[in-house]
Amino acid sequence: MPSIKLNLTIRILIAMVLGILIGRFFSLFVSEQSDTLINLGFFELSIKGFFIDGLFNIGGQIFVTSLKMLVVPLVFVSLVCGTCSLNDSAKIGRLGLKSIVLYLLTTAIAITLALSIANFIGPGEGSSLQTDASFESQPAPSFADVIIGMFPSNPIDAMASGNMLQIIVFSILFGISMAMAGEAGKKLAHFFDNLNEVILKMVNILMKLAPYGVFCLLAKLFAFLEIDEVAKLGKYFFTLIGVLLIHALFVYPVLLKIFARVNPLTFLIKMKDTALFAFSTSSSNATMPVTMNTVTKKMGADNSIASFTVPLGATINMDGTAIMQGVATVFIAQVYGIDLAMSDYLAVLLTATLASIGTAGVPGVGLIMLSMVFQQVGLPVEGIALILGVDRLLDMTRTAVNVTGDAMVTCIVAKSEKALDKDVFNDISKS
Ligand code: ASP
Repeated sequence: MPSIKLNLTIRILIAMVLGILIGRFFSLFVSEQSDTLINLGFFELSIKGFFIDGLFNIGGQIFVTSLKMLVVPLVFVSLVCGTCSLNDSAKIGRLGLKSIVLYLLTTAIAITLALSIANFIGPGEGSSLQTDASFESQPAPSFADVIIGMFPSNPIDAMASGNMLQIIVFSILFGISMAMAGEAGKKLAHFFDNLNEVILKMVNILMKLAPYGVFCLLAKLFAFLEIDEVAKLGKYFFTLIGVLLIHALFVYPVLLKIFARVNPLTFLIKMKDTALFAFSTSSSNATMPVTMNTVTKKMGADNSIASFTVPLGATINMDGTAIMQGVATVFIAQVYGIDLAMSDYLAVLLTATLASIGTAGVPGVGLIMLSMVFQQVGLPVEGIALILGVDRLLDMTRTAVNVTGDAMVTCIVAKSEKALDKDVFNDISKS
């Protein structure tokens, strides 16, 4: 029998569809509160216990945990290699400034786009939603706390707790010192280069297992997902999806064309696996190893640039999340009949952009950032409870946009530093 070798994207897509179908099938028999038992004669099998909280839960969690397992070693090792090979602290400073400015700029564009389109469509106008829900708010960290918090007093502690900004600061200092340490530094650099290759191999192995992980994640999610919530919040849901798509498929390609002068279509094609990972895991952080692999191996960005821009982006750049905050602000204001002034919109723009610096890319963090934005402009934080029901699906979609933004900025910065290998970028067989 001829064996058909499907590429990874197709396998992940098949796994996604199967996961969704099986999840929906099981949802006919179980819910968060109830279960169905299958009588096998000698014992009763619980659908929820065995399949959903058992098999799917275990498979999905192992997959996400394994991705997360690679994040800290990968960021540390690749960033040390990157800064050591740059060997020029002025260049590192320039790189940092460029990336941060680009990340903040794309986030500001994202929110402006979201506020404008949402105001035009009016997702919350004439809504009959009950406004008696409740939601716990979170205090926003002060700007000073965010800056001070970037410096680790203990690098091991920073790595153990996965504090990305602290790890970035330590790795850069370590890499610069290694470059300055002469012969001893050279020996160590060789060791780190080899280690980097080994860790990227681990990423490759994990990517091959992705279809199984994705299947389990989606089967569990869709078994409990309340699809009718989407219908209730249809206007909000589809406005948000629309803005996310415009940002990813129109704004990014235009920026890429203008600033990197590369073919945006090639970029989007090469992003597909990474976007699927982000969609299934809802976490830019967990997707980081895959993003890194994509920008260096498939798009040709040099490791010295990508090792810096990708972890930084996964931490401070969340355009998709910013779009959600823009649309949600307009939606909730309309549902509660509150008029927002121009100054409120500016406050939304500023708070949402700054909040993205202080919060890491993990599932659901966007809602915490949204509560900071609401507090800032005086919208009822309880309003967030109204959109909770559909947030899981939206979180998946916006995470895919978040990681696409990280890769896009990486390409622009790499191009501007003459560190984007055009032959690799244009080689469509590497996709
Ligand atoms: N899940 C998103 C991310 O990891 C953050 C969010 O919007 O909740 O990028």
